[in-house]
Amino acid sequence: MATVTRAALQWDYAPAPEARDAASLRSSYDLFIGGEWVAPARRVATINPATEEPLAEVGSASASEVAAAVAAARAAAPGWAALAPLERGKYVFRIARPLLDQSRDLAVVESLDGGKPIRESRDVDVPLAAAHFFSYAGWADKLSYALGGRSFAPRGVVGQIIPWNFPLLMAAWKLAPALACGNTAVLKPAETTPLTALLLASICEEAELPPGVVNVVTGDGAAGAALVRAEVDKVAFTGSTAVGKEIACALAGTDVALTLELGGKSANIVFEDAAIDQAVEGIVDGIFFNQGHVCCAGSRLLVQESVAEEVVRKLWARMERLRVGDPLDKNTDVGAINSAAQLERITSLVAAGSREGAERRSISCALPDAGYWFPPTLFLDVAPAHRIAVEEIFGPVVSVMTFRTPREAIERANNSAYGLAAGVWTNNGAQAFSVARELRAGVVWQNTYNRFDPTAAFGGYKESGFGREGGPAGLLPYVRLTV
Ligand code: NAD
Repeated sequence: MATVTRAALQWDYAPAPEARDAASLRSSYDLFIGGEWVAPARRVATINPATEEPLAEVGSASASEVAAAVAAARAAAPGWAALAPLERGKYVFRIARPLLDQSRDLAVVESLDGGKPIRESRDVDVPLAAAHFFSYAGWADKLSYALGGRSFAPRGVVGQIIPWNFPLLMAAWKLAPALACGNTAVLKPAETTPLTALLLASICEEAELPPGVVNVVTGDGAAGAALVRAEVDKVAFTGSTAVGKEIACALAGTDVALTLELGGKSANIVFEDAAIDQAVEGIVDGIFFNQGHVCCAGSRLLVQESVAEEVVRKLWARMERLRVGDPLDKNTDVGAINSAAQLERITSLVAAGSREGAERRSISCALPDAGYWFPPTLFLDVAPAHRIAVEEIFGPVVSVMTFRTPREAIERANNSAYGLAAGVWTNNGAQAFSVARELRAGVVWQNTYNRFDPTAAFGGYKESGFGREGGPAGLLPYVRLTV
């Protein structure tokens, strides 16, 4: 039979941009306090990290504006706690619906403000945020089942501080269980991504949530610190380990409850019997999803020595096909780095990797002139003590290391100050479970990565924090058990 050799296929995607005007952005936003839009004393611009163009002006809340939001939440707390649980559940449900109705608008704003590809904000961030509200709406009148029949009371007023990597989703993770349990909340989004939290405040208004039940104050770290020190009953923080430690110190010795969801340096472990092509997809998803701005990113790739050459070859071939560019283009795989400061952090850790002797490979791709960008990168010849194997880079950079035995894989994976997540790729189910049992990580994915579900608990060990979000476990931090 004659063999037909086809010339290498040469083709490219046509641009497929989502319409920017699908986002109904105003030029300026106030603070949302006590059900009113309150003009802040000071405003700052939030910018599009893909272009460096300003998107809108938002408030930079002062300590007294934060205190006003806490006072509004305090005033609303007794009424909200006294509401019949079924009625509270209806309000939470009413927030979920418009999230879906306005999903296109929200996805575009999330990508404009944060730099993430529209494919991700459209298919992951927004639907998952809605799913959290739907899921916790159902728990509102069934709390005693989740709490093992114990008696409980809401904590009261909760201060919630969230990061910039999943702005709307983190707001949903925080607000949905807090409201379902009968608490009132003051939410402070991150300074580089305030817009979807403000749109969520509008949705709470449309849902006719009683004034003061949800308050949104935009601002920087100082506003976050003011919220921690305000008259709150609980603080829920997601962000860096450094700030988490500061908050833990500030609250030590007080009766303010605290949960911390912090950083990670998660191991993605590939055994020789794994389906390699599938594992390569999982490695790519594990580290390049959301530009690697993911607390549970699979940033340490541990590959069994016998398949290391094949995995690295296939991974590199796959990386070279990643499309880096306009976050609003539906074909984009890797969008913009969230801020100049984050780009600087990634760049300096990558330079440290090269300096310390690891072999750097970054894909060659045209990067836009304006905005903040970093090419997908892998490091080979990484030693466990290298900074790129120890510190959270929070960017599209994976450090590849090898192991020989399952025991060595477990020891290497656990050799981290963090303990947020891990991935295990193997066709041997018994091996998957025995390895997972020994991994000191809050979440272990088998033959997949970065799967999130509102019914499953998420959280860390060690310097990745404490407390769980998601599922029934995510209700516990928002109640005080009384017997
Ligand atoms: P960050 O700690 O700098 O900021 C997080 C939030 O805290 C922001 O809203 C910020 O304004 C506020 N803040 C800053 N200083 C503060 C202070 N002194 N007191 C109170 N609030 C303060 O973190 P980031 O750079 O925005 O986010 C990235 C980090 O978040 C990464 O380390 C990542 O791993 C982590 N993260 C963890 C999870 C998780 O669930 N474990 C999820 C997402 C992100």
